[in-house]
Amino acid sequence: MNISPWPSIYLPQLPIEIAPLVLQTPFGETTYQSAETKMYVCGITPYDATHLGHAATYLTFDLINRYLRLQGSTVKFAENITDIDEPLLERAQRDSVDWKSLALTQVQLFQSDMSALHIIPPQSFVPATSAMDLVESAISRLKVNGFVYELGKDLYFDVSSFLDSLPISVDEAVAVFASRGGDPLREGKKHPLDPVLWIGNRDDEPGWKSEHGFGRPGWHIECCVISLRYLLGADYLDSARSLGDASFLIDIQGGGSDLIFPHHFMSAAQAKALTGREFSASFIHTGMIGLDGEKMSKSKGNLVFVSKLIEDGCDPMVIRFALMSSHYSEDRMWSNELLLNAQNKVDRIRVNLSKTEVAPALPLLREISNALANNLDTEKALQSIEDWCTASENAPSVDEAGLVARGLDSLLGLAL
Ligand code: ZN
Repeated sequence: MNISPWPSIYLPQLPIEIAPLVLQTPFGETTYQSAETKMYVCGITPYDATHLGHAATYLTFDLINRYLRLQGSTVKFAENITDIDEPLLERAQRDSVDWKSLALTQVQLFQSDMSALHIIPPQSFVPATSAMDLVESAISRLKVNGFVYELGKDLYFDVSSFLDSLPISVDEAVAVFASRGGDPLREGKKHPLDPVLWIGNRDDEPGWKSEHGFGRPGWHIECCVISLRYLLGADYLDSARSLGDASFLIDIQGGGSDLIFPHHFMSAAQAKALTGREFSASFIHTGMIGLDGEKMSKSKGNLVFVSKLIEDGCDPMVIRFALMSSHYSEDRMWSNELLLNAQNKVDRIRVNLSKTEVAPALPLLREISNALANNLDTEKALQSIEDWCTASENAPSVDEAGLVARGLDSLLGLAL
């Protein structure tokens, strides 16, 4: 599948000093102040449109991307599309459609949702099906490095030397692995947690020719090679080795908190097995979105889709505002009330932005910027806008609504 990212978005610069971004990560506080930031965010499996959980995740990394760029960092940003995987093939079979056309339709829908939500596209938006040569050569290198074994037609990654850094106990990990696409019970594996690298072709399933046989890649190796290739360059396997031992391969690995294990753990282990180097300097995970007090999930059938909300007349900027009204790292609830509340607040901001005289812009922009610098405190940033609205209604003094509008657009992606 050949896919281009969605259209790029202009980022207005601001006349304020931007403090370095500080985020709380599982390994403590990380301050981002490099001239260049390499960010990889795990993309969608395109069998269903963008639901609010996806939107919240990509919105979070959009806020990070915007902030780092305003701070003066060059952000190299790559995102994959898992356009060949079990759930996609199952959905295509269930609906009697070709898996490729299902993937293409859903990717296009995702792109229009991202555009509507005013999310800056990655420079590299890479379908797994276009990365087969990368997967093939990475598996060859893993074989040379001694991390691969065969089981039937499949190839497995030997994870044993990385188990010391498991984020949970082995028993818990085995249970989670089984619930998220792993096969801990398969007979003949060296360790129950070893993930599949290359899935030898089964009857009438799609596959690709490779020196490892006809088949398709496992999920973790896909993200591992796409992130390294598109963030480090075409000679990534060798250039990664020549970098200083102490430096990490990339700066940010991101995704929903459901990816902590096994996906991010396994991708990082494979990157280290390939290059001898630690994968990412930081891991950022976004909380899950529930609906009206319940977990939102495919199995419950209660997913709320961005395209459906927009189709029903909802303003994408109101969706964006509502998603920013609580902290990115927390599991949180979505409701109609939240949406209505966001609509009222956005309406109020628009009324104030349309006035000739408002409260001063720069103190507001500094407050928003400082709130974001402090672990992306969007709740506080939105409160500052409300306070600015109150001040603009009570004591308007300057002709600076245009600057406020540009600031909200740059810092928060609110194009109002
Ligand atoms: Zn991934």
